[in-house]
Amino acid sequence: MKIHEYQAKDILRQYGVVTPFGTACFSVDDAIKAAQEMGGNVWVVKAQIYAGGRGKGGGVKVAKSLNEVRQFAGEILNMKLVTHQTGPEGQIVRRLFIEQGVSIAKEYYVGMVVDRSSQRVCLMASSEGGMEIEQVATDTPEKIHKVFIDPVSGLTDQQATKVATKIGIPEQGHNEARVLLQGLYQAFDQTDASLAEINPLALTTDNHVIALDAKMNFDDNALFRHPEIVALRDLDEEDPIEIEASEHDLSYIPLDGNIGCLVNGAGLAMATMDIIKLYGGNPANFLDVGGGATAEKVTEAFKLMLRNPSLQAILVNIFGGIMKCDVIAEGVVMAAREVQLTVPLIVRLEGTNVKLGKQILAESGLTIISADNMADAAQKAVTAAARS
Ligand code: GDP
Ligand code: MN
Repeated sequence: MKIHEYQAKDILRQYGVVTPFGTACFSVDDAIKAAQEMGGNVWVVKAQIYAGGRGKGGGVKVAKSLNEVRQFAGEILNMKLVTHQTGPEGQIVRRLFIEQGVSIAKEYYVGMVVDRSSQRVCLMASSEGGMEIEQVATDTPEKIHKVFIDPVSGLTDQQATKVATKIGIPEQGHNEARVLLQGLYQAFDQTDASLAEINPLALTTDNHVIALDAKMNFDDNALFRHPEIVALRDLDEEDPIEIEASEHDLSYIPLDGNIGCLVNGAGLAMATMDIIKLYGGNPANFLDVGGGATAEKVTEAFKLMLRNPSLQAILVNIFGGIMKCDVIAEGVVMAAREVQLTVPLIVRLEGTNVKLGKQILAESGLTIISADNMADAAQKAVTAAARS
């Protein structure tokens, strides 16, 4: 799960990470009021969307007067912000964050992720912070320093100071840098985060170390422990189809091909996408209906797939283990009738009660292309999609 920058900063501050003073706003009037109330003479007007790269896309602007706050807030609110992370369709800005401006001497990068191979939290840090960090990672990976954090000792004083030295934070900033890095780790650890990133981490012209941007993602499997984080969820920022899928307990991820896949089990779903590719086709989605799919669930799954205008064939690939083939066949028939299927439907069933399942499909009166194995199913789906 993702959250907005201002929410991540609220969390990080609780762990001692210093950030500029700021207020989240939903209108231009609120933005001006917030700027007036916090005082000062420089403000930063920031689009709040879940994607990064906002600065380059025109979603972060430094205002030197209240008039400029008004102007920038007006420009950014409701704009369709396109960044390298939103894709070409962009994301509408519905929330703003108004912060007190900070005078920057140098920008650094720090981030934390879970490193699966070492089974530890990895702290990454670089002297080359700011809006080009992806470029740095590709061109000069040696400029990104990594520390793997022992879960028992946490991020030690020595490790934190060493990182600060390596990325070139001047010595008078080391204390603040250490407090910030250790706070970041505490926050990461205690909220079950999967990513926590501060880019840029700024050294101000008066030598303070402060988080100018913040991004946090959380492990969905641990959200049951954090109702306060679940409460931050902003459904406007999420794909409506994925939200609906999760309400029906379906794992659905839209892709850019034209062959819809309805599969039980994530492994089989991956294999199905691979074999479609192998025979020259392109999957329109990943869809795992899970182990205990009911006829209703299968119907919902069909409805989700059919919303995709590029869809030209549907491949149902089911291994009946816990779930029996006849139940799935009934679900497929019910769904195909209810949604009035307009694209070719290819079905491959295997496992418990497969004969009965096939019989139900054959007697349904629906035009279903039956397949004997995965290769056969994939080839039939690719051919059908190319024809329709
Ligand atoms: P991102 O592009 O989505 O990562 O958004 P950021 O929050 O990182 O903002 C982009 C850039 O705006 C930063 O790299 C900074 O250079 C700049 N910026 C952000 N806050 C301030 C500030 O308070 N003062 C100044 N001068 N620049 C800022
Ligand atoms: Mn940033």
